[in-house]
Amino acid sequence: MRTHSAVKTVVLLAIVTWFLAGSPPTGASSKETANDTVVIRFPDGIDVPWEVQELLLQRVTESIRFVEDFFGYAFPRRIEYQFIESRYWGIGSAGYPNIVRDPWPVPTSIEDPSLYRPFNPHEVVHLVNHAIWHHCAVDSMDEGFACLVQNLYLSLPLHYEASGLLALGELPPLQTLLLESSQVSRFRYFVASRGNSSFLGFLYERFGHRSIIRLHRGLAEICGEGRFSDNLISLVEKCTSTPIAQLEVEWHKVLRAIQVHPRYLTALRLYKEYDKADLLRLVKQCEWLDVEIDPAFMAEVRSLNSDIWSYVNNESLTEEELRARIEEIVKWAEEIRRGISDRHTTGSPA
Ligand SMILES: [Zn+2]
Repeated sequence: MRTHSAVKTVVLLAIVTWFLAGSPPTGASSKETANDTVVIRFPDGIDVPWEVQELLLQRVTESIRFVEDFFGYAFPRRIEYQFIESRYWGIGSAGYPNIVRDPWPVPTSIEDPSLYRPFNPHEVVHLVNHAIWHHCAVDSMDEGFACLVQNLYLSLPLHYEASGLLALGELPPLQTLLLESSQVSRFRYFVASRGNSSFLGFLYERFGHRSIIRLHRGLAEICGEGRFSDNLISLVEKCTSTPIAQLEVEWHKVLRAIQVHPRYLTALRLYKEYDKADLLRLVKQCEWLDVEIDPAFMAEVRSLNSDIWSYVNNESLTEEELRARIEEIVKWAEEIRRGISDRHTTGSPA
């Protein structure tokens, strides 16, 4: 009887899953796949096999559910997850309450190992933040919570990056960090997001889930008020019943106890140097003026960015080689910038 009902449950689940996932296409793949939680849209001309669509749908749905459970929040409507194959980089919520845009290639083979890992919920957290804070997002907290929930879901270390920043003297004092935000410098963004995520992770581990949810909800009340920085510090102190200076001492103690690999510290230094190319501003400028950046430049930017982080584990990469490539990319970016400003001042068509 038990076996019989278990089999029935499995069959029923299969039917429900099949129903929620929509009907399987006959032959060619469709341009979207959906259930009650999310609709995933694929770019035109890309054939995504049905089995891949199902796996993607399952992974994205689990990731959204995790975020909803974490914050005790239910999205009032379906999330729209769009694969857009952007020329540049950057994943984001595009300012819409329920849309995430992903520029990375869509997996098209069932063999793709990424299909068997949990799906990163980072952008979905931004959607929750903006909904709960009524679009009055404070960058430092917005990125801090997004990185924290991402790390918890993906089982990534909560403090490693911040430990490295502290060891290099690149972590600002807590009261500055809590307000630190930069969307124009990759390194400053790194410091703000990883620093705040680690601090929130410390609160999560030391004071529990409820205390950081109180903090998250409390931000909605102080957001947009005058003297925000004072209010934020009072809010953190209220949620933990601990003075901010003591929190900083305890948090740094946690960070100092973590052994950071010397090659990781070198990678951080290189990443800071690479920031001199000012790439975020350059890409934004090109998008704004509708100027196409040399694809060879973009390819080297991506490859260099990836190699800087691969340097930590890949001993065939040397610091000298990466430093030389960074100098090249900084000069190359400068040339592109000059080209744009010449074209702009002479009025030649882009
Ligand atoms: Zn983010």
